[in-house]
Amino acid sequence: MKDQHIRVRFAPSPTGPLHIGGVRTALYNFLFARKLGGTMILRIEDTDQTRFVPGAEAYIVNSLAWCGLDFDESPEKGGPHAPYRQSERSDIYRDYISRLIENGHAYYAFDTETELNALRDQAKANGGRTFQYDQQTRKTLQNSLTLPEPEWRKLMESGAPYVVRIKIPENEQVVVHDLIRGEVVVNTANLDDKVLFKSDGLPTYHLANVVDDYLMKITHVIRGEEWLPSAPLHVLLYRFFGWEDIMPKFAHLPLILKPDGNGKLSKRDGDRLGFPVFPTEWKDPKTEEIYSGYRESGYLPEAVINILAHLGWNPGTEQELFTMAELIQQFSLERVGKHGSKFDPEKAKWFNHQYMQRKSEDELALLLKPYLMQHGVTPSEDFLTKVIRVVRERAVLVPDLWNTSWFFFMRPEQYDQQVYQKIWQPGTTGWISNFAKEVEKMDVFNKDTLHALVQEFTTSAGVKMGQLMNPLRLLMVGSNQGPGMMDLADVLGKEEFLERIETGIEKLNRL
Ligand code: GLU
Repeated sequence: MKDQHIRVRFAPSPTGPLHIGGVRTALYNFLFARKLGGTMILRIEDTDQTRFVPGAEAYIVNSLAWCGLDFDESPEKGGPHAPYRQSERSDIYRDYISRLIENGHAYYAFDTETELNALRDQAKANGGRTFQYDQQTRKTLQNSLTLPEPEWRKLMESGAPYVVRIKIPENEQVVVHDLIRGEVVVNTANLDDKVLFKSDGLPTYHLANVVDDYLMKITHVIRGEEWLPSAPLHVLLYRFFGWEDIMPKFAHLPLILKPDGNGKLSKRDGDRLGFPVFPTEWKDPKTEEIYSGYRESGYLPEAVINILAHLGWNPGTEQELFTMAELIQQFSLERVGKHGSKFDPEKAKWFNHQYMQRKSEDELALLLKPYLMQHGVTPSEDFLTKVIRVVRERAVLVPDLWNTSWFFFMRPEQYDQQVYQKIWQPGTTGWISNFAKEVEKMDVFNKDTLHALVQEFTTSAGVKMGQLMNPLRLLMVGSNQGPGMMDLADVLGKEEFLERIETGIEKLNRL
């Protein structure tokens, strides 16, 4: 067992975009595999044709790639156990379901959806236990356990639709050994006879998942807690197939909870509460509704990885920022908690801010470039660097780089009227014009010389600092926003500084 080659899989169903909970599952599988020199597999579980969403598989692959997660075997890459898309493996499952039927661990059931719905409604109306197809009810239903063989064979031959259900044994304790939760014991009386094979000739998730984990030699199943209730059924399937000895080890990851801790973070929470819950933007192909993504909101992939690494795993030290290499080195399932972790949108921003601050000037320039192009501005490299030095500290998300710097590249076209009304006093135009005349005379124009001039001017003209600086800022930026006035002036340079005063005053006077 010690030298066992680790093989893990991330097995999403392409039923929509990948929620960050799914990305975290992929990440933990990835870290586990990379740490132990194992193999990471992507398997697309698309046997439920009714829930298939076009574009979802490509979304999953691309968004994981953006996060820096890659696979050794996948539908795109292929591998020794191809195909990796379950819809292309239907013949394989047929063999395995036949085995279960032959061994008496599964049976044919002919009850129609309408009949079953009627039973569900009836149970509800009686206020008793919710109806389920199980060891009790199956005795009274239409299946190959209750009907004489000639009869059910005839039904089949006549083309009557049927499914194959697992025959859950009576009164047994099923034990799931979970690496995170320890032993989870369930009595079979609480399990229902789940459908394993559907009338459309495709297996359900349970059968396909177990058969593929076996065939693909998966050693560890690391997946979300929502699959824990299915684990006893999977354990039974391993037993029925005679694969108990090589059953993968299970690790069910805790839920990611809403910021207030009340329930699982859902796909609707993000946009409702003002943060993304998807790695990249997703447009629902049916409703055309757009769900925001971390990438488009200006998060860096390394920040997203860190946010997710900490939602469930705990390094056991004070270290908060990890490179992927450090995560690989330090990750272990032993340090994954049992309890759900609250998603903290402010902490998410904090992580991004940290990573923004770690970027070099060149990297930040690269992040700013698309915005420059979009606005048709082409600054020199030198100017761009100067701007970045001034604004970088305040950039939390990528768009902040542009939102806090655009006025370096473009003159303001409008001036905030409220600010204007508030700060522009009867003497302001005069002070500013006189100040501009002094600036014109300056030989050396920089932060320090300008600062000295401002001191001198305000003292001799008898105006307060704010009476000069606030209008100057309005003229430079068009509002009361922006970095320190001296930094702003320094980067703009004397000529542009004076130009903005002149054109600004002209425009304001016309108002
Ligand atoms: N197809 C399941 C999903 O969509 C996979 C669960 C598992 O990993 O077993 O999450």
